[in-house]
Amino acid sequence: MAGYNQLFVPGPTNVPESVRQAMNMPMEDMRAPDYPSFTRGLFQDIAKVFRNDGGRVFIFPSSGTGAWESAITNTLNPGDRVLMSRFGQFSLLWVDMAERMGLDVDVIDVDWGTGVPVELYAERLAADKEHRIKAVFCTHNETATGVTSDIAAVRAALNAAKHPALLFVDGVSSVGSIDFRQTEWGVDLAVSGSQKGFMLPPGLGFLSVSQKALDFAKDSTRNSRSNRCYFSFEDMIRANDTGYFPYTPAVQLLRGLRVSLDLLLEEGLDNVFQRHNRLAEGVRRAVDAWGLRLCAKEAKWNSDTVSAVLAPEGIDSAQIVKTAYEKYQTSLGVGLNKVAGRVFRIGHLGWVNEVMMCGALSAAEMALRDCGAKITAGSGVGAALEYYRVSQQPAVAKAA
Ligand SMILES: *Cc1c(COP(=O)(O)O)cnc(C)c1O
Repeated sequence: MAGYNQLFVPGPTNVPESVRQAMNMPMEDMRAPDYPSFTRGLFQDIAKVFRNDGGRVFIFPSSGTGAWESAITNTLNPGDRVLMSRFGQFSLLWVDMAERMGLDVDVIDVDWGTGVPVELYAERLAADKEHRIKAVFCTHNETATGVTSDIAAVRAALNAAKHPALLFVDGVSSVGSIDFRQTEWGVDLAVSGSQKGFMLPPGLGFLSVSQKALDFAKDSTRNSRSNRCYFSFEDMIRANDTGYFPYTPAVQLLRGLRVSLDLLLEEGLDNVFQRHNRLAEGVRRAVDAWGLRLCAKEAKWNSDTVSAVLAPEGIDSAQIVKTAYEKYQTSLGVGLNKVAGRVFRIGHLGWVNEVMMCGALSAAEMALRDCGAKITAGSGVGAALEYYRVSQQPAVAKAA
């Protein structure tokens, strides 16, 4: 078929041309004398995207899941009590990992379509006078349900209880797309990956760590029993401090990362967040005009990087996704686990603009109608394009 396949899954996301070209390079020597002059800038600039002042960012040749594991094994011991919540496939998988790594997980299950239950966290923390809870985990943006949680409020709950637990945040589908402030919010371990807001192919796991978490990891009276090797902070720090890595880094992806960081920082993080908010709002207007609802149960949970749309009663959402792919060359996200067959997802993160989103909405609308949804042709797309036309553009719109 002619034309591009349209990619609107919430990861991997579209890769800017300039990033792709930067990765089309002859292989290079990762032990060359001038390699540190390249990597030092990367370490500095990626910390800016996490808004991490004073800590450091580890870049692993892994997916985001590897960074999850690194965060746990470098700071916690098997048997440590941790507080987690589960409300979608990604928060569910992190709980599963924590249990498999031997942590004593206090997991709070809440409705899929809501997010981190801050009030319940506050109660648990206030009741934990002996400070048995060693860490509190949050999935900032639950990609399966299109739900964003309030991390600043979790920090406030920790502070109110004067609780010393470490704060772990999964920011795989939020960092670089939705407001995230590691230092201001006192996030100790923030996880992300290359293939979502960072606009790169999959293959890099990022772990942005506070000084408190680094001290914790070093203190063998507090942390000595977890096995760690490939994901060890100690090995990474020793090599990164000289500008190198303890094993072969993903050299091409790092060249791509250089360009994607430049794109994010040149546009300005606040402009990037605003762009995501506008693009998301257009999608929400379309969903509303179709007479459909989001999986997110209240507007306060709405995600600016992915919308999970509830299929009309009696229509299998997987059929909508399949039709969009086969008939209109457009990839939408399927429903995962508990919401399989019930939601389809539209990713609106990374290297996307208004007209691209109108394309995604057109395919979704046609597929919905093909599957029997009683919606008026052009209704959703019309609502979105009118919103995009009249709403403010960010001051700088730079071509990649
Ligand atoms: C994609 C995603 C992950 C998993 O990351 P991988 O890179 O696939 O290992 C984890 N958490 C969230 C919120 C995600 O969106």
